[in-house]
Amino acid sequence: MQPQFDNTWHRELPGTYTATQPTPLAGARLMYHSAPLAQTLGLPETLFTAGADGLWSGETLLSGMAPLAQVYSGHQFGVWAGQLGDGRGLLLGEQRLADGRKMDWHLKGAGLTPYSRMGDGRAVIRSTVREFLASEALHHLGIPTSRALTLVTSDEPVWREREERGAMLLRVAESHLRFGHIEHFYYRQQPEQVRQLVGYAIRHHWPELVDEGDRYRLWFTDVVKRTARLIARWQSVGFAHGVLNTDNMSLLGLTLDYGPFGFLDGYQPDRSLNHSDHQGRYAFDNQPAVGLWNLNRLAHALSDLIDADGLRAALAVYEPTLMAAWGDAMRAKLGFLRAEPQDNDLLTELLALMTRERSDYTRTFRLLSHAEQRQSASALRDEFIDRAAFDHWYQRYQQRLQQEGVEDAARQAVMKRANPALVLRNWLAQEAISGVEQGDSAPLAALHQALCAPYDEPESAAVFRQRPPEWAAGLEVSCSS
Ligand code: AMP
Ligand code: MG
Repeated sequence: MQPQFDNTWHRELPGTYTATQPTPLAGARLMYHSAPLAQTLGLPETLFTAGADGLWSGETLLSGMAPLAQVYSGHQFGVWAGQLGDGRGLLLGEQRLADGRKMDWHLKGAGLTPYSRMGDGRAVIRSTVREFLASEALHHLGIPTSRALTLVTSDEPVWREREERGAMLLRVAESHLRFGHIEHFYYRQQPEQVRQLVGYAIRHHWPELVDEGDRYRLWFTDVVKRTARLIARWQSVGFAHGVLNTDNMSLLGLTLDYGPFGFLDGYQPDRSLNHSDHQGRYAFDNQPAVGLWNLNRLAHALSDLIDADGLRAALAVYEPTLMAAWGDAMRAKLGFLRAEPQDNDLLTELLALMTRERSDYTRTFRLLSHAEQRQSASALRDEFIDRAAFDHWYQRYQQRLQQEGVEDAARQAVMKRANPALVLRNWLAQEAISGVEQGDSAPLAALHQALCAPYDEPESAAVFRQRPPEWAAGLEVSCSS
């Protein structure tokens, strides 16, 4: 059966978009699709067979689609940037799923829109493959995110630092509502539009609040909580988004707009992975603070709807929510099934040791998952140069484990669900990109499949779990995408 589309944004939010048709790419071909996601969305395989390229490259539309570019603004790198908007992506339509939910179909790289500013409306293969893999990786780590359905490549030259080729990504998300949507109309002094957008958000995504007298405050409090929990989850897996501008912040608490993101290899929490970010504003360990800064900007834009006390009370929920979620996640990573007063010290000391040694974040916690409470030998010990410091920490760690009275096997099982064996490292993405650029989607497919089960250690994915090669240390990613 063909997917059914609705267009609630188009119908209910006049004045917040421009109806815009996609501009197809020369020589576009469907390179890859996520078969498991297609199944989840109830899409027939015939949509992905030879001859179906036109659908994924914006040449043909499915019945019920009404493409549009949304307008929004935002604070970029701490500064009000004014109007931005969908400069190269279009909302094609909202798929109605069998369970009643709706899913935005957003085609990224779909050509010029009224909001393209100086840009060309395009996305390149490199950034498209990275977003495809990263969003699927986060989803399978259990972190809320947009997801990737299809990847199209083309023969069309696109200029970045060098000539590259145009590509398109069809991504899906329950909504693309951004902090920047609200900010746009607040700074335009259109409070009615702010109210309309928030009303729309509540109607479609917080239906339980529709009849609450205090719904705006309750809604904003939930946005604060979702943002806090999202960032806590990023911190726990070592993910740095890279460009946490308010236009890239999802009101639903999803990871949105993947650019110069990265998963930490060696633990350097204050390092920004985005080489255009000279101040380190979006460094890994700054994300919790930036989340709150962004929420403050959103609160300001909501000041016609919610009084100052209400806004302050909602913002005050951020830190405790984030600390609780991060604490839970880190306790699971350490294998502590109960909370004890010394846990924080044990964690802080381990992270300090890892910082000094630039220990690989993912590998260290995965190896820790093999720890035994009475056995002094540990494969993890070999990872550290300062063995004395490690031994000192490990002894106290084992004592802490013994206090819990949980069998090693039971605890290890919990830890292996909290400490992924595989994350999307830059060098892994690089190999998939090279394949796709040469017309070969096999490396992408193999990596995608492995990322769908990040807590398992199948032999078939051993190659992806190797230590990052030397050349990977020099990999840098920029905003250019
Ligand atoms: P980003 O940081 O990638 O989320 O993009 C910030 C803003 O720039 C958004 O409004 C994008 O739509 C716009 N943008 C980024 N790249 C392009 C491009 N190649 N063409 C047009 N607009 C773009
Ligand atoms: Mg963006």
